[in-house]
Amino acid sequence: MKNKAKPQRSSEAEKNSQDRDPSASDLNQVEFHRHGLALVPDPADRKPGVTFFLKGNGNEPDLRICSCSTSRRETCPHILKLVKLYRALQQEYGGRSPQDAFRLSIWYRMATILANGCQETTGSVRLQFLDLESKRALRVLGSDGKEMLSYLSKFSDAIRFLERLGQVPKENAVPHRGALLEDLARMTLSHAEHIMGDRGVKTIRRVLEESF
Ligand SMILES: [Zn+2]
Repeated sequence: MKNKAKPQRSSEAEKNSQDRDPSASDLNQVEFHRHGLALVPDPADRKPGVTFFLKGNGNEPDLRICSCSTSRRETCPHILKLVKLYRALQQEYGGRSPQDAFRLSIWYRMATILANGCQETTGSVRLQFLDLESKRALRVLGSDGKEMLSYLSKFSDAIRFLERLGQVPKENAVPHRGALLEDLARMTLSHAEHIMGDRGVKTIRRVLEESF
């Protein structure tokens, strides 16, 4: 991980945090990968941090990590927000974790079918903007130059899609979704996958996750 931060467990501050339903824009600030969640930093935040929540299982406690200055002293607002969003998602999915809900969804089945035999990753594809003025309608080409898909939306989801692909200006100081997802992918690898990774081997699950 690029950011130095110490893991935290639950605190009183969290229990006292205000209870209100998260808005759609709150949920738009979350990225998840396996059992990990990341909060996409708000560019307007004056004390920004990179925030992760890793859901523990049986023997392992939940991990809460934030790189902001407040979290060195106490549970920071970012962690409070992310934990609250995790709970809201869980409630929305009838008590299931986002990971379980995704694996049971039609989106996961579609991803499995689309990834079958696909060699492309987010790093190998090329983007072509169709409407140069707005830069939002785009086409994705595979490494062989053939069109893989057209993305026609011009709304905020198009920006989210671009950010997930890591297609943001390099000088942008705020870590984007693509970078957060890469961090999450590293942090949520199992012990066995770490060992396999050191030997240059990937599980079928990792190949699916990395596929475009
Ligand atoms: Zn923080």
